[in-house]
Amino acid sequence: MSSARRQNQPLLPAAKDKKSKHVENSDVESRQQLRVLSGTNLKYAHQYNQRVILETVRLRGPLSRVEISSHTALSTQTVSNIVEQLLDRGVLQVGERRSGRRGQPAVEIDLNPRGGYAIGLHLDRDHMTGVLLDLSGTPHQTINLEWDFPTPDEALPHLVNAINILIQEHGVTAEDIWGVGLALPGPLDVAAGSMMAPPNFPGWDQFPIRDTLSQRVNLPVYLETDATAAAVGERWFGHGRDMQDFFYIFFGVGVGGGMILDGKPYRGAFNTAAMFGHIPAEPNGERCVCGGRGCLELYISLASLYETVNPQHSVQESANVVAQCFENKDPRLMAWLDQAADRLTPALVTLENLLNLEAIIFGGRFPAPILDDLLARVSKRLPDVQMRGLQQHPRLLRMHADDSSAALGAATLPLFEAFTPSDSVMAKTPNDQAAGMAIR
Ligand SMILES: [Zn+2]
Repeated sequence: MSSARRQNQPLLPAAKDKKSKHVENSDVESRQQLRVLSGTNLKYAHQYNQRVILETVRLRGPLSRVEISSHTALSTQTVSNIVEQLLDRGVLQVGERRSGRRGQPAVEIDLNPRGGYAIGLHLDRDHMTGVLLDLSGTPHQTINLEWDFPTPDEALPHLVNAINILIQEHGVTAEDIWGVGLALPGPLDVAAGSMMAPPNFPGWDQFPIRDTLSQRVNLPVYLETDATAAAVGERWFGHGRDMQDFFYIFFGVGVGGGMILDGKPYRGAFNTAAMFGHIPAEPNGERCVCGGRGCLELYISLASLYETVNPQHSVQESANVVAQCFENKDPRLMAWLDQAADRLTPALVTLENLLNLEAIIFGGRFPAPILDDLLARVSKRLPDVQMRGLQQHPRLLRMHADDSSAALGAATLPLFEAFTPSDSVMAKTPNDQAAGMAIR
């Protein structure tokens, strides 16, 4: 079949997705499939179609080859060829034969969880978390390390050591690892693979951490802000599995944002999009490190919370004090939560109005009870708004993962690069050629 004819051919109607519990409207489901999962026969199509098939099996598997073909509008021959290659590489596996139907029972194809692994590292001023994830998104090993503002020279041996421990303790080899995702506080210079003047983090400005770490461990390293990494993780195995457009607020020492639009992270013209914490909240407020005044993160971050309940002590002590204060309904903490909710609410309504989101997710490093309480306070304040379209999800959700969400999200970066159908794969940019290498 010619590529032109294939392009013009109407796509088959969407089949019912047993895993999309929230999706009830078939029009919405069809629209989402059309946007994400239709294959093509254009030039450079093989890599794109491979991603379409992987993503379809990941989200909907196990599926027969015929079902993959009907979900993706790819010919059964194309599906069979690509599935064979992925079976040979061990990325897919053959499941059971279905019985009870006429003719030859269909063979089910599914992801092989042990077909590949990825490592995620989240590095911040006060801690490092590392995790090993398999292809199904299941975490196998986690490493936590507390530290105080390490320089790159001090941090690097720990990062290398963590990677080696994660590989060795689970009994996999370096060849099984598709890559390392590194989540860092923003802003980042993605092209250079470094942080850009991170506040209160001496030695890291423009340090080429991506390339240096990659050389030390001989693995591809993918860099992302902690907030976007957590959003990508949520897209991979959390609430975002059946959402195309959502915003993730990452409450950490600062407050970051991760924006998933049309199923992919949106980074903006200079890779600094979604800096939610620097939305102005108080016109005459204190100076912020960004140069503005009264930025939101001065009032709603972990740093602000610790300063309120335990100004004299270390970060580690403060975490325990916050937990204690919450249990005792300490009036300082209750007042802090109220002002945080007051300031957050208009910013969230602005996001909703600008971006027409399916949901906003609260995540990051607040203890779960604090996150839930803040979410409940904001929910009470959110005004009812009209014209929001067909709503499939609550407007606000708490992250699916625990407080290691950034490390888990970082670990999904190499997998996301290999799986996600992207128009830029067709354009064959240098980045996407590199991404195509991710399947080892
Ligand atoms: Zn600011």
